[in-house]
Amino acid sequence: MASTLASQVVIFPFMAQGHTLPLLDLSKALSLQQIKVSIITTPSNANSITKNIANYPFINVIEIPFPTIDGLPQGCENTSQLPSKEFFGPFLHATKQLQEPFDQVLQTMLESETPPLCVISDFFLGWTLASCQALGVPRLVFHGMGVLSMVISRSAWVHAPQLRSTSMFEPLDMPDLKPPFTLTRADLPGDLTNSPNQDDPASQFSREVMEADAHSWGVIVNSFEELEKTHIPSLESFYMDGGKAWCLGPLFLHDKSEGLEKSTAQKDSSTLTQWLNEQVKPDSVMYVSFGTQADVSDAQLDEVAFGLEESGVPFLWVVRSKTWSLPSGMEEKIKGRGLIVKEWVDQRQILSHRAIGGFLSHCGWNSVLESLSSDVPILAWPMIAEQFLNAKFIVGVLGAALGVRGSNEVFVSRQAISEAVNELMAGQKGRSARERAEAIGKVARTAVQDGGSSHDALSKLVDQLRAY
Ligand code: UDP
Ligand code: UDP
Repeated sequence: MASTLASQVVIFPFMAQGHTLPLLDLSKALSLQQIKVSIITTPSNANSITKNIANYPFINVIEIPFPTIDGLPQGCENTSQLPSKEFFGPFLHATKQLQEPFDQVLQTMLESETPPLCVISDFFLGWTLASCQALGVPRLVFHGMGVLSMVISRSAWVHAPQLRSTSMFEPLDMPDLKPPFTLTRADLPGDLTNSPNQDDPASQFSREVMEADAHSWGVIVNSFEELEKTHIPSLESFYMDGGKAWCLGPLFLHDKSEGLEKSTAQKDSSTLTQWLNEQVKPDSVMYVSFGTQADVSDAQLDEVAFGLEESGVPFLWVVRSKTWSLPSGMEEKIKGRGLIVKEWVDQRQILSHRAIGGFLSHCGWNSVLESLSSDVPILAWPMIAEQFLNAKFIVGVLGAALGVRGSNEVFVSRQAISEAVNELMAGQKGRSARERAEAIGKVARTAVQDGGSSHDALSKLVDQLRAY
């Protein structure tokens, strides 16, 4: 069946949930347009990807072997499988060795009936530019970030040598950058300015991926024009060969069946849905999750438990920790009012449940989009990477979120958590944030419909690639 399709696109996600999931959504959006999609990944990631795309006829998964390298435990093929953050560097380094098998796969495809229109590669896999250039295939890059965060990250990277000598919390003054909020060094992704010099392996790696990025044919953005229009020209100015920014998001909304699908953890999902159904008051439950990357200490998780308990607000909390368990006596106290889950959940389905009225979130970009698309205001608690930028954007610019007081401090107290939860769910500021979230949700859903900005951009992108 697939071989009768006119066009094919190759997608190579980086092996981290937050990077892979949106590209699977893009794969689905393309397959709905009758385009064949080949997703390149490694054996241990292929399983979950295959399950995720199982109902889509035109998507296939191609496995290439993950290399064995010194300093990286065997079987670690995804950032979630790394024993700790220290292994992230060796992991990035290992992904470079995927080039040879990837080149072979691409070469074979070029000789097939449907040579690929393009390769959509995660920015971390910077070396795919060389592969694409050698074989004459346009490369589109994907970051999994919003427009503004990309613009700021790049500018910060360019100015990193000067930034290293500035203080952490004073407003930054960067000549080529006018962010719509006060920006400090503490808001920037950590390793951008912390590297000891420009020749250490992390800086070298960043330089390579940035250069590959700048020479790509364009960038795919999981955002929509209406949300970040004013920053698109700055983003595009980074592309040396006239590359365009294609705002196609929220990617997960292209597929109308999304949100109706059952989670892979069937038993769990039904317990969870049942619990949510029992919460009869609309917008009454706080959903809590800190994503798949941030490490939160056991002491801080205890404090979150106490804060949620003290708030009196019903909550559904997804905890990702191998070591933490609920403080003693807490289970009794929260019985019937709080549900704590340790497994993978279908976050989109949860957010679209009418009982959910707020999201205490680490502000990963996917979570931000998913929350706002479901009209759910956010209680922003950024932790790592570009999450501080996302938080400032949704609080200060969009007005669809409130911040947890003291978030810039390492430890957030139960009082601060409890007060902020109550303000979002029941306070005046919370009401205003909900109205803003609802307004943005409406625009997001319109963007992916026929005639909407993201829908049209996707069609235009495919047309341009076909004409290339
Ligand atoms: N996610 C999910 N279930 C979970 C945990 C995470 O579906 O139990 C999804 C979530 O919906 C989002 C992604 O994983 O799409 C996490 O990406 P995000 O950018 O929010 O944060 P990251 O994990 O990359 O920090
Ligand atoms: N980076 C980049 N371009 C960007 C954003 C980040 O090249 O637009 C590089 C940069 O060197 C940064 C590194 O990628 O230090 C890690 O980025 P991020 O903070 O997103 O990674 P995470 O901590 O989520 O793994």
